[in-house]
Parts: sequence; structure tokens; C-alpha cells
Amino acid sequence: MARVKICRKPDCHNTTPYEQDNSYCEIHKAMYRPKPEFKPKSSYERKRQQREYNANKRDKEANEFYHNKTWKHLSQQDSSNKLCSHASVVDVQVQPKVI
Ligand SMILES: [Zn+2]
Repeated sequence: MARVKICRKPDCHNTTPYEQDNSYCEIHKAMYRPKPEFKPKSSYERKRQQREYNANKRDKEANEFYHNKTWKHLSQQDSSNKLCSHASVVDVQVQPKVI
């Protein structure tokens, strides 16, 4: 018995030959859209998209926050601490910094 696939259209139980690229049956074959071929972007194209994202879409307020001195100092402290947030709270007296 030859291998078959079931039509991709929901509630359609017609079968198609296994080797056929179009995974819809004869009735629904017009619904088939071939997958676009994957093309990796060139580094130039990636950089251009990143520049565009930074200029138009990036949250400026959040970006400024992550680049200010206070955040850099605090995030560096955390990574050098090597303790999870719970342990650091239990073992060390954490004083909230007044900004
Ligand atoms: Zn079908």
C-alpha cells in the first residue's frame, strides 16, 4: 500500500500521494502556497536593519536607562555577586539606593 498524506484543509479527509509537494487534495489544491525560499541576509543588510530599528523603533527612554551610570554600576555588581537574588537578599543586607 502506497504512503499517503491527508489533505491540510481542516475537516477534509481526502488523501494525496506522499511524494506530492502540494499537501492539499485535488479539490483544495488551489489553497497551496509554496514556502518562500530561505535567503540569509547579508551582514550589510542586517546592519542596515539594525540602524533603522535604532533610529525609528527602539524605546528611547529604556535605551537611556540601560546606558546610564546607575544601571551599569548596579548590573555589574549583580554579575560579580554570583548569588541568586533570593540568596543575596537573605545573606546580605540590601539597602535600596536613593537616587
Ligand atoms: Zn481537501
